Amino acid sequence: MFACGLLILLSAGASPLSGEQSRPTITVRVDASDAPRKILHAKLTIPVTSSSSTLTLYYPKWIPGEHGPTGPIQDLTGLIFRAHGQELKWRRDLLDGWTFHVDLPAGVDSIEASLDFVAPAGPEGEGTYTGGASATEAMTVVSWNTLVLYPQGWTSDELTYQASLRLPPGWKFGTSLDVASTNGSEIQFAPVSLTTLVDSPVISGEFMRIVPLADNPPTEMDIAADSARALEAPAEVWDHYKQLVEQAQKLFAAHHYRRYHFLYSLSDHVAHFGLEHHESDDSRVGERGLVDETERKLAAGLLPHEYVHSWNGKFRRPADLTTPDFEQPMKTDLLWVYEGLTSYLGDVLSARSHLRTPEELRDSWALIAAALDHTPGRTWRNLQDTANGVPSMQDAPPQWESWRRGLDYYEENVLNWLWADMIIRQATQGKRSLDDFCQLFHGGPSTPPMVKTYIFDDVVNALNQVAPYDWRRFWTERLTNHGPGAPLEGLQASGWRLVYDETPSELFRADEEDRGHSDAALYSLGLALGKSGTISDTIAGMPAAKAGIGPGMKLIAVNGRQYSADILRDALREGKTGSAPLELLVENTTYFKTYRIDYHGGEKYPHLERDESKPDVLSDIIKPR
Ligand SMILES: [Zn+2]
Repeated sequence: MFACGLLILLSAGASPLSGEQSRPTITVRVDASDAPRKILHAKLTIPVTSSSSTLTLYYPKWIPGEHGPTGPIQDLTGLIFRAHGQELKWRRDLLDGWTFHVDLPAGVDSIEASLDFVAPAGPEGEGTYTGGASATEAMTVVSWNTLVLYPQGWTSDELTYQASLRLPPGWKFGTSLDVASTNGSEIQFAPVSLTTLVDSPVISGEFMRIVPLADNPPTEMDIAADSARALEAPAEVWDHYKQLVEQAQKLFAAHHYRRYHFLYSLSDHVAHFGLEHHESDDSRVGERGLVDETERKLAAGLLPHEYVHSWNGKFRRPADLTTPDFEQPMKTDLLWVYEGLTSYLGDVLSARSHLRTPEELRDSWALIAAALDHTPGRTWRNLQDTANGVPSMQDAPPQWESWRRGLDYYEENVLNWLWADMIIRQATQGKRSLDDFCQLFHGGPSTPPMVKTYIFDDVVNALNQVAPYDWRRFWTERLTNHGPGAPLEGLQASGWRLVYDETPSELFRADEEDRGHSDAALYSLGLALGKSGTISDTIAGMPAAKAGIGPGMKLIAVNGRQYSADILRDALREGKTGSAPLELLVENTTYFKTYRIDYHGGEKYPHLERDESKPDVLSDIIKPR
């Protein structure tokens, strides 16, 4: 309801102002010298371009790439407006908490706004995206959307921002923004549109390393860490990232940026995620994410994914995700292309660049395929709805995830785009592939950042140009069917099949360890365990759920011994040769109960196994170009 009202306000405000008034330039001076205290200060000078007695200002709400109204409004504090030294009255909009109405005295041609952004300051890296934990004693990422207001009546392309940034003394920085000048710890950036400013975060820290990856166009990694040691990755790692850039250029045969900066945060105390931009990405992993081999392997798909977004998501963007400002809601129905194709191409590039070995890539796809093959929520909810629902559902808890479904438009579409790749290859006798689609859809000529929108029909038409096929029916079926199992046809056509055995892959174990979870009984009993035996989910139709166990309970003991992941594994193994049921002592809301499960199938861990009856096309797909 309120969204409709805002749309009317926007269009009513936009036409007279844009036509008659010159476009405003807003000055924003950010002081990040208190970043280790997790508070950033900003002062804005905002021209008044109308004769109205009220100025309506927005705090960015729908942040590109975050797929929801996630602008961290609860952390906007210290808000004071002044004109000619006098404090001005303001009130928050009753129907939209991101909107402020400021009373203007007569004859005022600009106002000053002071505000603080208080970043999450809990013991661990909290929150997600730009509203998540972003500062430590030694580093920070400045996301401009957390520090600006903008006036109603203009698109974000029409507003110019003249930004400056003060950093803690001695801290270095990296960004894709043009630097106009520096003076000690103060940086003055060249003026840019509000769109570009919000698209161009700044990483900064005491321990920083700049790693050049390519000259033309200039491409580099700007890495900030909580220690100097965290920056000392083995030499081959830099080489793999250089190959990532090279392989991406070969895949798309063009680029849509003037330069590209991988902004990489290495800290256990910031939120962990990746967020895409046209000319950079804001990707954050643990402090040892580059130097520890296991952590590096777990994160090996992150930068390829965010980099692919420069083409798929930023340059080519669904029309209904392309909004004129940060207030108008976004529609997320085409995220199966925006995120799904990016996930597939990012994974393919992670192997083509040797960030992952072919085996590591297959192990990660085995995890995807197995998880999707154990998602009973597919029977009531289709894949399209996982995309449509994300603005309101992205913070859903892990409990009941297999029945609710998670953000499957990412990972299920790895399998679906692999399937599409296989259809193209088969229909053209191997002459064409999804690489050709990328060159047609995302490729030349190279341009600076720009947005070229698309709708469902454009995707279908481009696929048809590469290889004639009933692509409309293919995608409609993939997006709307209620089949219980994962779509494995493309994988099987590529010469591999999903199998289960008793030995977890290295990736499976590393993933368990990283998340503090145990998936020892996930594919045998359908039991997903969090820290210390807490039960995060049970999969409908599998033994644990059938026995009456559900999420929110806690596994206390297995066959009379206190639970640990190893004890559970041993019990599953021993159960294969015995006839006694598995005994699980479970706590539920202070009650204890023993569940007896007559299960003798042993441990089950997913792998991809070669199907020798078919050519190994998968290995061709992930070979360097
Ligand atoms: Zn993404």
